[in-house]
Amino acid sequence: MDKETKNILILLGGGIATFGILILLDKLTKKEKEIILPGYRIGKEIKESDITKKFYSELEKLEEEFKNKGIVFENIPGNLFKRNPRDEAHKAIIRRIKKEYPDFGSKVESIISELKKYARDKYKGEWTVYIFEWKRKPTTQFLYYLNRVANIPAFGFHTVGLAVDIVPFNNIHKRWSWDLKNNAVNDLFNKLGELARKHGLVWGGDWKTFKDYPHIQVGGTILNIKDASVYMPLIEMNDTIKSQVG
Ligand SMILES: [Zn+2]
Repeated sequence: MDKETKNILILLGGGIATFGILILLDKLTKKEKEIILPGYRIGKEIKESDITKKFYSELEKLEEEFKNKGIVFENIPGNLFKRNPRDEAHKAIIRRIKKEYPDFGSKVESIISELKKYARDKYKGEWTVYIFEWKRKPTTQFLYYLNRVANIPAFGFHTVGLAVDIVPFNNIHKRWSWDLKNNAVNDLFNKLGELARKHGLVWGGDWKTFKDYPHIQVGGTILNIKDASVYMPLIEMNDTIKSQVG
C-alpha cells in the first residue's frame, strides 16, 4: 500500500471516529447549537462553552490514541498570516511534501512555480502567491470549523498533509487577500484552479457547497477496500468515543 492510500485510510478512520462527535453535536439543544455550530453566531461563548471544551478534549484524546499507534499529527502553517512571507518557507514545505508524497509534492511544486511566474508576468511584482498552510492537527481543524473557515470538524486532507492552501499576497500593501471582488485575486485563484486541474489535483473552488479557493488536494486516488481492514482499530475508536460521550 502506498503512503497516499494509507493516509487516506487514516482519514477514513478519523472521519468515522469524528462521526461520534457529530452524533453528539446532533443531540445538542437548539440553544446549545446557537453557541457552538458554524452558521450561528460566534463569540466569547464559544471559547467559554463547556460543550466546545468537551469536543476539544475528545479530539485531544483521539490525537493521543493515534500517537500511540505511531501516527503523529502536527501543525505546519507555512506563511500563515506572516507579514513578511518568504519563499524559503514554502520551499521547505515543498521539500517535506515531496519526501512524504513524491507525486503530490512534485505537482504542488509545479503549480506554485507556474502560478508565481504567471503573477510576476501579469502583475509586475505587485501580486504574488505563497503557501499559506499545509498540515493541520484535528484539534486545530476543529477551531477552524468553529470559526466557520472550514466545513470539516476534525479530519480532513490537511490532517495528513494531502492538501495545501495557496493565497495571493500584495507586495505593495503587505497584505494577504481572499477578496474575489479584487480582479487580480480572482484571477490568481482561477489560475490556481486551472493549474490544479492540469496537474490532476482537486481545487476547492470547484466544490459546489463550500467554495475553498486557496485549497488544492490530491485527486483521483483509488482506494483498495481490502486495505481498509488494517485501520479497523481506528474505526473501533468511534465506539469508544460514542460510549464516552453518549
Ligand atoms: Zn485547505
